[in-house]
Amino acid sequence: MAEFEPRSLPDLLPLYYRRIFPFGAYGRWLLYGDVSKNYFQRREFSFTLHDDIYVRYQSFNTPQELEKEIQKTCPYKIDIGAVYSHRPIQHNTVHMGAFQAQEKELVFDIDMTDYDDVRQCCRSAEICSKCWTLMTLAIRIIDRALVEDFGIKHRLWVYSGRRGVHCWVCDDSVRKWSTTLRSAAVEYLSLVKGGNETTKKVTLSDPIHPFIRESINVVKESFEEYALVGQDILGSKDSYDKVLALVPEPARETLQKEFGKKRNSIQRWELLKNKTEKNIKTQWEIMLQYCFPRLDINVSKGINHLLKSPFSVHPKTGRISVPIDLQKLDSFDPFAVPTISQLCHELDKTGNDQGDEEQNEGEVESSRRSRDCKKTSLAPYVKVFERFLEEMDRSQKEESPKPSDAQMDF
Ligand SMILES: [Zn+2]
Repeated sequence: MAEFEPRSLPDLLPLYYRRIFPFGAYGRWLLYGDVSKNYFQRREFSFTLHDDIYVRYQSFNTPQELEKEIQKTCPYKIDIGAVYSHRPIQHNTVHMGAFQAQEKELVFDIDMTDYDDVRQCCRSAEICSKCWTLMTLAIRIIDRALVEDFGIKHRLWVYSGRRGVHCWVCDDSVRKWSTTLRSAAVEYLSLVKGGNETTKKVTLSDPIHPFIRESINVVKESFEEYALVGQDILGSKDSYDKVLALVPEPARETLQKEFGKKRNSIQRWELLKNKTEKNIKTQWEIMLQYCFPRLDINVSKGINHLLKSPFSVHPKTGRISVPIDLQKLDSFDPFAVPTISQLCHELDKTGNDQGDEEQNEGEVESSRRSRDCKKTSLAPYVKVFERFLEEMDRSQKEESPKPSDAQMDF
């Protein structure tokens, strides 16, 4: 397999944007069925170009124009921003204060670096199959709440390309949410509080909120395999002292004496459960501190906050930011996500197709690209994206008033 070399990015991006990036579906997504006047035209895009040149407030008349610009400038990274009151490209010509971010998807950003105090296997930007479970749990917990507690329909979960996941909540009504509403939602979904200096980051109140209860049920399913076996959180004195710091006296003192006699994490957890039998909240607080999702609150709160676009390339790993199929969440493997060098290599191997001469140039471009993308290992991820778009189309048709037979005009 072709290894990714960050140096080779400028050579690969032109091919990726010309023949692989799914511009058709991408444009359909951001048009949102032309939901309101100039919706697409008022959307901010930002590009990171070579040498870390960062260009904000780009906007385009049509998805085709966006495509042309991307193919021309070959950005290392693409970010999506808000839909503004005016076209972002004209933000300097608009009277001060009049240029306002009006709408955006509600987004969530979950980054593995925020879990460094509770994972043993990796540090900072590293991830492995062991700690990836934290992302799976985060998606499961947040997604359940979005659907069941908030009544949200359209969520696009995306692997960031390196060490985390993003969620784009795309329902029409949610895109209109104010900063206050977004803050309230992210507050609702947050539980782990405090930075490095805080020992106890989860404190449950009485009675326990139904959202927390549901989340505990999700964590329970993986706790033994992930935390006790995989991370071995009670495996050594160093690591179990961290857990014991979360246990109130007198149980803590007893456990401190008896943990040494036990052989492994599973036995020690059994003992801890025994000694805290009457205070089950303690067990739950530990489980949640080690497993509950840690959201980057500021990314979700601000309407004008930018977030890396789906199908953008991660400039360090070369991996594509791909949609995640929630029906196969457990088998999603971040290391199996194709890199840009792999995709370009796959395309090279299949060679160029002949017989397009009859069509005009634009048609050739777009039809070739959809076929090209299907020849690479990006295809299953594009399919997930298309399924997400079909769902949105369907709801839009259901919600918009149907013309009566009399009004139909063929
Ligand atoms: Zn790891």
